[in-house]
Amino acid sequence: MGVAAWLRRGRAARRREDERRDEIQPAARALRALEFPTAAAVLVALLAANAVVWGAVVSNDADTLDAHVLDIGQGDAILAVAPGGTTMLVDGGADGQRLLGELAEALPPGHRRLDVVVATHPDGDHVAGLFAALERYRVGMLIVSPLHDTRELGRQLREEAEAQGIPVLEAHAGMHLVLGEEVQADVLAPAEGEEFGGGGVNEASVVMRLRHGSVALLLTGDIDAAGELRLARGPWDLRSQALKVAHHGSKTSTTDLLLRRVAPQVSAISAGADNTFGHPHPGVLERLGVAVVLRTDVDGRLRLRSDGETLRYEVER
Ligand SMILES: [Zn+2]
Repeated sequence: MGVAAWLRRGRAARRREDERRDEIQPAARALRALEFPTAAAVLVALLAANAVVWGAVVSNDADTLDAHVLDIGQGDAILAVAPGGTTMLVDGGADGQRLLGELAEALPPGHRRLDVVVATHPDGDHVAGLFAALERYRVGMLIVSPLHDTRELGRQLREEAEAQGIPVLEAHAGMHLVLGEEVQADVLAPAEGEEFGGGGVNEASVVMRLRHGSVALLLTGDIDAAGELRLARGPWDLRSQALKVAHHGSKTSTTDLLLRRVAPQVSAISAGADNTFGHPHPGVLERLGVAVVLRTDVDGRLRLRSDGETLRYEVER
């Protein structure tokens, strides 16, 4: 593994995070609770304030959150491993075998569980690989976008999940996932009942902000400029030390407006080597400016590691 760098957020930023955390802690009245038949006894409860909360009982000494941007070629697949061992896979790329190889590298040996799988939108470069993940791993829950079923691939993935008894939830802003102590993922988009314009399924990508203490990572799927505008105008705190650049660095995303709101110090681009789309676009690299830019097509698998106060990154090559 190569370079490591440390980033630190100020006391004021941490205080703002604390205030925000207070806001979103609901008066916990469980509407229903589901217990999944996983080895880790994951408990999920849907709470009054559109919240999804779970705690995983896994013995694991690691107290870091790792977000691995997997090197799956042209597409997206991001694996988060929280302190305590809860895992969340956001998208699975286009190639199931390649995804399984990358997961085996990133997960502890013998690990056969993905507590949460998120399909940000039903394009092949995000969901085709997930069929292999559902076959190999015990999956606790599948979270999908509101337009998931508008594509055949999306419908097939849902059917596969349901055939395995995996609960399928439609994501909407305000959903709140607790992945472990101090680790939470907030769904910021799309808004419930939102109408989408010409951007199709990309525009409806599930956007999540993963937080660990005062460190945040923004995961944007393939949202385009219209989606970024809605996100930037929304009520959410978007500031994040790390940004998963939308749509593989396409020129139709990564607007200056969004970048001002997020102010990333590290940007991660998932794109295939020598891809035919020309991703990432040179204009996007220019707009990212002073942020450290990591690219799977150049750097291989990327690891963003948080200890709750600082973010460190490592690259495979
Ligand atoms: Zn894509």
